[in-house]
Amino acid sequence: MTPARKNISAFEIMGDYWSLLIVRELMYGASSWSAFSAVISIPPSTLSNRLAKLVAAGCVVKSEQPKRAKGTYKLTEAGKGLFPILIVAREWQLRWDLRPGAFVSPWVHECGAPLHCKTTCMACYGEVLSQDILFKGEALAHEHGGTLNHRTSNKINVDLRTSNAKIAKITIFLGDQKALKVMDALLRGYNRFDHIQKWTGLHPAVLSARLRKLQLLDLCVTRLYQDLPDRFLYITSDAGKELIGLIVQLMEWDAGAKGAGSARALLHHKPCSHALKVALICRACEGHITYENTSVNL
Ligand SMILES: [Zn+2]
Ligand SMILES: [Zn+2]
Repeated sequence: MTPARKNISAFEIMGDYWSLLIVRELMYGASSWSAFSAVISIPPSTLSNRLAKLVAAGCVVKSEQPKRAKGTYKLTEAGKGLFPILIVAREWQLRWDLRPGAFVSPWVHECGAPLHCKTTCMACYGEVLSQDILFKGEALAHEHGGTLNHRTSNKINVDLRTSNAKIAKITIFLGDQKALKVMDALLRGYNRFDHIQKWTGLHPAVLSARLRKLQLLDLCVTRLYQDLPDRFLYITSDAGKELIGLIVQLMEWDAGAKGAGSARALLHHKPCSHALKVALICRACEGHITYENTSVNL
């Protein structure tokens, strides 16, 4: 039986480093503890905790098997709905992190081409660009689930699919919910420290750390707008602007979870002035990309 989707946001699910890696492995067809721990260097208690959270979120079901104490896990429809988020994240990685050794999932579209996607507006078929998005009803647009109780792992090389500890930049970013939240604020046009702090609700020290992290990942740059005391504007870089597709896909999943396009109505596409509903399109054949019409060659 598939449990109902709980009121948990995609930002909370994917904004956890471990859950992100587990979901990725589930997409590849992994279903057992041994399969997860073969490629993720994850402590058993953490694995157990994250699988339980994914089950509670309605993204994963566990089948009890009497002979195998730990059972097997598979994605629910809601879990499969996280696929576009992983794919836009992967696309960003392919484009903006060229260091060798950082792992990128080898997905192939049904047309036979290695997967390259673009996020397009379903009303006008235009590619979704950050400057073309209008965020409406700011205060309500995004309910940050409040809890944020996952500790970000300080360990490197926990993703054994990477070589030489080169964890993909997108994984370092996406798997840190607080960094994600700060980037979301920047993409909405909040550029001053106090404004970002107010919108995200993060402690100033935590916000400073995440802004530094975003700069190290080349996602934002600073510009001095006042001196004595020095005050900076935080401006998204070109690489940062391209994360809009990821933010939109996260919001799409939340809209699907809540039904009736609740969050979707808050995003508008300026070129066609429609409420934004997006499709993930293959750059090779212009066909839609879904979990079902792609395959992975590991
Ligand atoms: Zn449009
Ligand atoms: Zn294609």
